[in-house]
Amino acid sequence: MKITRVEAIYLRQPEVKLQCDSGQDALVVRVETDAGITGIGEVDSSPLAVKGAIDGPFSHTVACGLGQLVLGEDPFETEKIWYKMYRANVYGGRRGAGLHAMSGIDIALWDIKGKALGLPVWKLLGGGFHKKVRCYASSLFGPTPEKTGELARRYRDQGFTAVKFGWDPMGRDERTDIALVREGRKGLGDAADLLIDAGLVWDAKTALQRADAFSQYNIFWLEEPLRPDDYEGYRKLAEGTHVRIAAGEEESNRLSFIELMDRGRVDVVQVDLTRCGGFTEAMKIAALAWDRGLPVANHGFTTYINVAAALHWLNSIPNALICEFVAEEETNLRESITRQKIRAKDGYLDMPEAPGLGIDLDEEAIQKYRVC
Ligand code: MG
Repeated sequence: MKITRVEAIYLRQPEVKLQCDSGQDALVVRVETDAGITGIGEVDSSPLAVKGAIDGPFSHTVACGLGQLVLGEDPFETEKIWYKMYRANVYGGRRGAGLHAMSGIDIALWDIKGKALGLPVWKLLGGGFHKKVRCYASSLFGPTPEKTGELARRYRDQGFTAVKFGWDPMGRDERTDIALVREGRKGLGDAADLLIDAGLVWDAKTALQRADAFSQYNIFWLEEPLRPDDYEGYRKLAEGTHVRIAAGEEESNRLSFIELMDRGRVDVVQVDLTRCGGFTEAMKIAALAWDRGLPVANHGFTTYINVAAALHWLNSIPNALICEFVAEEETNLRESITRQKIRAKDGYLDMPEAPGLGIDLDEEAIQKYRVC
């Protein structure tokens, strides 16, 4: 089997709100083969930078568009293709958008392999740890502490046993920060887990103070309180509090995760399959975390392609902790671009059993939202 075409498809809703909801647009990757099997992947990044990294021309041997590099390759050779893309993309791809773009292609290749063999991706990865995975309802904070409490109640009533709130208005001032967590806990009750995603707002000392203050509300983890490059700050924080510190969604490739684990000393490693380098790299990151005794979780705030990829991966590693599942009001884009809609049941997600990712695009919706 040979790869015959790679397409980077940018989708966007007509209206995009200025808030931290990455489900309002999407960059989908489609890889075609001469066997008639098509694989799909996704990249959650700066979409047109990623499209450029895929569609771009050969400039020279370490700056080459990824799409043309993989033409003619056998999609089963995922490991070889990963290093070919990395080697030919060293200028723009060691971290960030170039590496993100590789993720979308890698995911699509695993989808092709699964479809060709009639097996779900997790089986190809050697998985089978779970029949279902516990997930947390992932949401932005409400605009006020009280609204956050109402949201918590709603998610609990939907059957979730864990709920995460994140980003704005966390970080405005101490009173608001603490009130957001207090009301979140009040709305959720004592039986469920409460996760807090600060959204890159503090320095290490402030984060330590907040971790202390939040611990009376028994939070499950405190996520991304610091800017991602403040690895020394992460270390001070993680060593200074008993609250679990989670981070990783801004990292791409295993070397940057090693930095986060060994210098930053985080307690939970969060991996976005659509940014880290795809399945091929995510398996290695999980193994590096396991070697250090660390649990991992996925990051995903985009489409069901990302959720499906996360489930296959979490089912294939021994240290899966929990799965992020977006509980925001369903955006039209997220709900319509794939034929399958993944739903949580009593706070759990079932493992996909269909070949490949188990996700198909809805071509009508793709045409409707396609920008380029
Ligand atoms: Mg986050």
